[in-house]
Amino acid sequence: MQLEHTLFSAGYCTHPECVTIKGGSWHAKEYPALCALIKHPEHGYVLFDTGYSQRFFDATRKWPLWLYQKITPVHVKDDQTLVHQLENKGIRPEEIKTIFLSHFHADHIAGIQDFPNAAILCSQKGYKAIAHTQGFGALRKGFAKGLLPEDVETRLLWIEDSKTVPLEHSLQPFIEGKDIFGDGSLLAIALPGHAEGQYGLLFKNQNQQSVFLIADSCWSSAAYRDYRLPSPITYLVHDQKKAYQETLLKLHRLYKSNPHIRIIPSHCQEVWKELIEGHHA
Ligand SMILES: [Zn+2]
Repeated sequence: MQLEHTLFSAGYCTHPECVTIKGGSWHAKEYPALCALIKHPEHGYVLFDTGYSQRFFDATRKWPLWLYQKITPVHVKDDQTLVHQLENKGIRPEEIKTIFLSHFHADHIAGIQDFPNAAILCSQKGYKAIAHTQGFGALRKGFAKGLLPEDVETRLLWIEDSKTVPLEHSLQPFIEGKDIFGDGSLLAIALPGHAEGQYGLLFKNQNQQSVFLIADSCWSSAAYRDYRLPSPITYLVHDQKKAYQETLLKLHRLYKSNPHIRIIPSHCQEVWKELIEGHHA
């Protein structure tokens, strides 16, 4: 099945480049919070993550989460939020049926409350890891509880409950995925290392090209193309260093053996530039 999809950037943050990739410059660069809208013929609109919103500033106003907005200065205007951009395309917030969350870092969940009817599809393991954290524990996990809707517990669906299916040979070294709708159209792929229970999403687009949304497995396309690791300091925020490096190496090998696949890191400047220039679906 081929699925229509559109990418959006819902705000951005700034970092010195050398934090995100070894050998990068000390200059602060802008990193988008990319999200995707996917249209499924039966299940309607599915979002992949939700980017930043004004709620990020409220939810991180108090110490120690305040450090979060100081470490990664965030920029998002009202008209840059995902909900606003979708409304510009004539899609009402109520029409979003499912939000697939790659992981629970604030820059991926800050827009959830804008979509009141959506089921929240995420990793049970990932949710359990953050659900009861607060203070420095929450900061360490990049999580701000105020970003989740009050009725979150009634809307959660677990990725782990979907059927495990084998992947096409051309997707090796990835060998299996979780078949979200049971029709093979959307496959959740485990991408451990960055955050507990992180999953990416794999599907075929309108041009029969495989698209692999890899969330924060790396922060740039150069990182998976050339297997370039981030600065060691980032392992303070990654969940597991060894798993992070193994996941990045798998993505590198996938790219080498299958260069036609469209691999999209959520904070990649290169993809963002293409998006702005209109070269990207
Ligand atoms: Zn993250």
